[in-house]
Amino acid sequence: MDHIKRFFDCFIPVTTCNLRCHYCYITLNGQFENKLPEFKHSPQTIGKALSKERLGGLCHFNLCGAGETLLPPETTPIIRSILEQGHYVMVVTNGMVQKRFNEILQFPKEFLARLGFKFSFHFLELKRLNALDSWFNTIKNVRESGCSISVELTPTDECVPYINEIKALCVNNLGALCHITIARDSRKKDLPILTNMPLSQYKETWDGGGGGSGFDSEMFRFKLSTFGIKRKEFCYAGLWSGCINIGTGDLSQCYSSFYSQNIFDDVNKPIKFIPIGANCLKPHCFNSHAWLTLGLIPELKAPAYAQIRNRICGDGSAWLTPEMNAFLSGKLYDSNRLLTLNEQKKINAAWKKKRVLQLISRARGKISRLFKR
Ligand code: SF4
Repeated sequence: MDHIKRFFDCFIPVTTCNLRCHYCYITLNGQFENKLPEFKHSPQTIGKALSKERLGGLCHFNLCGAGETLLPPETTPIIRSILEQGHYVMVVTNGMVQKRFNEILQFPKEFLARLGFKFSFHFLELKRLNALDSWFNTIKNVRESGCSISVELTPTDECVPYINEIKALCVNNLGALCHITIARDSRKKDLPILTNMPLSQYKETWDGGGGGSGFDSEMFRFKLSTFGIKRKEFCYAGLWSGCINIGTGDLSQCYSSFYSQNIFDDVNKPIKFIPIGANCLKPHCFNSHAWLTLGLIPELKAPAYAQIRNRICGDGSAWLTPEMNAFLSGKLYDSNRLLTLNEQKKINAAWKKKRVLQLISRARGKISRLFKR
């Protein structure tokens, strides 16, 4: 059985989309551009750069664009080149770029068993475009072709009147209810939940208080249990995981990082994997459903990532293939060495010092700009 060595969240630098969801963080921040990205390296180079040998073992890759991931034609050969290394890949998509699915579903069966699609269920946009039937057909086709699927709805206040309709659509077309994620308000520094509801009402509406009228989504429950909590434990992000910009090859420890390195320019150069430790630079771990369920903070109790993504359908079938389910049921601390307390202390002290120096230099910059006015 394959074991997960590292997890990489990969950014596809596309900022255009064929939908216009009001809650999308690109819409909120006015960052839409109508052009496709440039990739500085060929899919072959990307594949070599991400070889199993260089990364230390088999890894899980999440591919996500700021806009629609599957719009750039390059995504097809890039996905293939990562699968060719033996890794497991999940692609976040709105499920609307049919041409790309037609290409990808031609991959060998053995590749498709290690490939999954996370369909973002943009109910209101699909309804507006009268595209719900074709959208569900695409998902059925992807599943029948031997890929994993996972479907998640962004729980916006505007969707509340349609909850019963959404549930019926999911059960009839997907065999199970969709999962529920949490949208964040990226215009605010502390990245709060994007809702006008009080927390208790929000929870009751989408979760139903555990087994009630909600969606019974492990993704929603775990995400909510960590949302808004500043992480102070030792986090192995940077050592067991990383964020890669597929357009450039820049690898960072997490969404914010103490250092970054290019791993595509020279595919033979060893990669520096250094953990962020107890110095998380984000207000909270807003994508904990992936990072923390895979075990980046080993002492934090969390369900397996497979549980967050999978659903067992009424007919007994599952959304994840047996291969994907087994791989994502693993924890990173099972295939990596835990650092000693002494090693952790050294890492924490080094980054703390760097942080203080960064803050001092930023403050100096601000003061000198003030005096120049
Ligand atoms: S706690 Fe979460 S956001 Fe912070 S460094 Fe770790 S994985 Fe990244």
